[in-house]
Formats: sequence, C-alpha cells, structure tokens
Amino acid sequence: MSRKMAIESEKKNIIELSRNQLASWLSDQGVKCYRAGQVLNWIYLRQADTFEVMSDLSKDIRNLLSRHFTIQRLKKTGLEISLDGSRKYLFGLEDGNVVETVLIPEKNHYTLCISSQVGCAQGCVFCLSARGGFIRNLTKGEMVSQVRDIKNDLDRSMPLTNIVFMGMGEPLANYKNVVSAIEVLTDSEFGLQFSSRRLTISTSGLISGLSDLGRDTQVNLAVSLNATENKTRDMLMPINRKYPIEQLLEACRRYPLKPRLRITIEYILISGINDTSDDGKRLVKLLRPIQSKINLIPFNEFEGCDFKRPEEKAIHNFQKILHDNNLTAVIRYSKGRDISAACGQLHANFKRSASLG
Ligand code: SF4
Repeated sequence: MSRKMAIESEKKNIIELSRNQLASWLSDQGVKCYRAGQVLNWIYLRQADTFEVMSDLSKDIRNLLSRHFTIQRLKKTGLEISLDGSRKYLFGLEDGNVVETVLIPEKNHYTLCISSQVGCAQGCVFCLSARGGFIRNLTKGEMVSQVRDIKNDLDRSMPLTNIVFMGMGEPLANYKNVVSAIEVLTDSEFGLQFSSRRLTISTSGLISGLSDLGRDTQVNLAVSLNATENKTRDMLMPINRKYPIEQLLEACRRYPLKPRLRITIEYILISGINDTSDDGKRLVKLLRPIQSKINLIPFNEFEGCDFKRPEEKAIHNFQKILHDNNLTAVIRYSKGRDISAACGQLHANFKRSASLG
C-alpha cells in the first residue's frame, strides 16, 4: 500500500459521526461547534464529496477536516433493473462484504428498502437472505450511505420520500446503529430531512427491542407475522420459539402508537401452510385487540424452496374473511420479483400511508 493510501485509510469516515460527536471534536480542535452543522449540511443536503468545496468554512478548517476525515460513498458493485422499474443496487463495503438496497418506484414517489445487517441470523425459511446466515451488523454510516448515495443518483423527476428497513437483516438486532441512522435520516436541520412518518422498521418479532423503539423513535412499525398458530410460526420463523405469537401480539398491543397510526402486520401467504379459512378466522381473532392493518403478500417462489404461492382465488378468499370482519387488508404484490430484490418477500409495495389510519 502506498503511503498516501495508508494515510487515507487511517482517516475516519465522517458519516459515522453524529452531530454532537463532530461538534465536540471540532471544539477540541479550537473550532466553534456550530461549524458542525455547516459541515453536515454540505454532506447531507448538498451531497459534498470533499471538504474542499465547503466554501463557507475557512481554508484552515477545511484542511483540518481533510487531514482527519474522509467523506465516503459506498462502492456500487452491481445494479439490476426489474421489469416493474425497481432497481436493486449491490453495494460493496470496506471489508469486502456486499449488501442490497432496493429502490421501488411508486405512483409519485420512490420508496427505498435498505439493509441493516450483512446476512441475517433469524433464519426465516421463506427468505433468501437467511440462506447465507448472519455475517455482521451494518454501521450507522453504512445504513445512512445507502440513502444518501441513492438520493444523489436520482434526477428530480420523482422524490425519494419513504424509507423501509426491510432489506437484508433484522433491524432490531442492530438496535443502536439503526436508531443512530434514523436520527440522521430524520434530522430536519442538518440531516437527510425525511419525515419519521415516512420511515418504517420491519421486524420479525424481536420483542426485546420493540418497547425501546416506541420510546426512542416515532417511526412506523411493521411486524412480520405470517402464521396464526405457534406450530406453524415455529416452523416458518425460528424466532417464534423464543417469542411466541401471544407474546409478540401483546408487545404490539402495548406499543406506544401515536393517534391515528396503526401497526402494519405483514402476512406472507403460502399455499397449504397458512392460507386456509381457519387461518383467516384465527387472524381476525388475534388482531382484534391491536390497532393494525394487514399486508397480504403472496409468496414469491424461488429455487431451493418448496413453498408454493396460493391461487389467486385463495388469496382473495383470505382477504375477504378479514374484510368481512372489518379489518383493513391489502394484497401487496412484491416489486422486483424478477431480480429477487432483497429478501424478495417483505418489501411489498409500501404505500406512502404505510401505517396511517
Ligand atoms: S425475513 Fe427478514 S428477519 Fe427473516 S431471515 Fe429474512 S431478512 Fe431476516
């Protein structure tokens, strides 16, 4: 490695720092801490790639920052475009790992489905991401960069407004970093300026993190349920052996929802496994005490998995049972199916009103 490269690799990626951390570092260097806001404005609002361009900072401050930090972007190692317009980005990380981020076009905005871990430890049997096992948590900067970098790529024809943590990984298993990333994504002054109401965390049911999430953030919650009996859910989602359905739904019932908001219940319909009329009736009973709306996601068949997608008639019958019992249930056909986007099952067509009443 050349000396220049060695020096560069010793520098810290400034995107990993919070506003407070940067302010305190600057203050230690004798620079007024309000300068941190200016720097972050350049990085997140003006998408600066170098400190050199930060024209409202003195040359000395810019040099100081350049000596200690880099402003990194993720390495784009692949891009697949689906017939429905969804785009799957493969991002190479510093350590050689790769994560997927999926950009989904809606009617008048984009939704971005981001990853929170490399791989996933939850082992849901219907999920492609689970096949390789868990490798590591993503850092706060790696999550924020998925959004920052793709935002920078978009032209102005349609805005990116919605973010779903529904790609690779279980976000609540990487709680601290996910919450730090949410802070930057929703910082309306010096961050990426997304509304919390447009951010959704999707969990497989790690209830140990649920109450913290409700306390620490104002984002929407989606819970991947997929079964109405423990024996079926145990088989589909091993996490159920630790946190069975009753405990999960009790945690949902206690979740501190803001007025008019509802929890989104994700239910992947798999033929002969969880799509019978009895399942529908049990689901009605289970969800009655919870302020929720249901996304029914017909299973996407993939090689190496024997599950089958139900017939259209069965899917609509299931939906009718829920409707007849006054539950809101929408059939969501996953986008990007032909490019196996992310886990390929969960990031259904998330509408702007993800959890609104
Ligand atoms: S569905 Fe989500 S939680 Fe389950 S294995 Fe896949 S990525 Fe992990």
